[in-house]
Amino acid sequence: MEYKINCIGVFTSGGDAPGMNAAIRAVTRAAISNGIKVKAIYRGYKGLIDDDIREFTTQDVSGIVQRGGTIIKSARCMEFKMPEGRKLAYENMVKEGIDALIAIGGDGTFTGARLFAQEYNVPIIGIPGTIDNDLWGTDATIGYDTALNTIMHCVDMLRDTATSHERVFLVEVMGRDAGFLTLNAAIAAGAEAAIIPERATILEQIEEAIGQGRRKSKNSSIVLVQEHAIDGGAQAVAKMMEEAHPEYSTRVTILGHLQRGGSPTANDRILASRMGIAAIQALLEEQRNVMIGVQNDAIVYVPLTKAIHEKKDIKADKWAAMQILSI
Ligand code: ADP
Repeated sequence: MEYKINCIGVFTSGGDAPGMNAAIRAVTRAAISNGIKVKAIYRGYKGLIDDDIREFTTQDVSGIVQRGGTIIKSARCMEFKMPEGRKLAYENMVKEGIDALIAIGGDGTFTGARLFAQEYNVPIIGIPGTIDNDLWGTDATIGYDTALNTIMHCVDMLRDTATSHERVFLVEVMGRDAGFLTLNAAIAAGAEAAIIPERATILEQIEEAIGQGRRKSKNSSIVLVQEHAIDGGAQAVAKMMEEAHPEYSTRVTILGHLQRGGSPTANDRILASRMGIAAIQALLEEQRNVMIGVQNDAIVYVPLTKAIHEKKDIKADKWAAMQILSI
């Protein structure tokens, strides 16, 4: 029997990321131009369970390419983790005439998608939307570049005050279990050190950070701390630092949710646009349960299982760059 997709459902789920709107726009326009109907599912899996679903035309996605956040909202949905929740979601999908799903989100979103696809034989294509860049199989995720730039600008501003005082400034950066944002922002902003979960022990990294400052006879240092490098984040690092080196006065800045905001950079808009179109192309090629990735500037299809379970490494040359550039 020929397999035909007449209607897709698109949703954003989990942590929001700048560029998600550009992806929704691309998915919608690519689908419609291929004669496929588009239904927007509000608040991720929650909208699927609550039947909070509306058909989108090309006009519904006008004027959003430059907007941060997601116009169809995002949510975390505990009910979808239960079989009864997923059953309701499937019943609504059938009721709405949705043949396939485009899931824009991160690790958790894809874990749910994979399970749902297995249980109900639903074709699902994932689009990586997360500032953390922690999904295997893609060089970048939507939102990462924008967040990186936001953090860099914040650290630039902090440096102005840091150089006026003899202090160690600890800046807490998001990233879930991954240090990509922290390390790359540290390189871009010329920080003295980055403390990330993937490398060495925290105490060693603190000594290193202080050592770097001292070698340069600097009167102030900026150290970026990944939120989960240690329980308690940058505050905990500050405490350890002050205990080991009472001569240093520390100041903690937690960037928090502002890292998720703002208008997406050109790179994120382009990435989201390409990935949105590729997701529809993948469905037309009868791909299922893959994530759209980009490797060496080419679109690739990555099995959802691999995207979730394989671990993306910190590039050795970037870690080395951090050490070399902070002497
Ligand atoms: P992200 O996609 O940004 O990693 P979350 O981890 O919060 O965000 O996941 C988003 C949503 O995906 C959750 O609220 C839940 O509805 C769904 N989800 C996550 N993990 C699972 C799972 N193991 N089984 C079913 N659904 C899940």
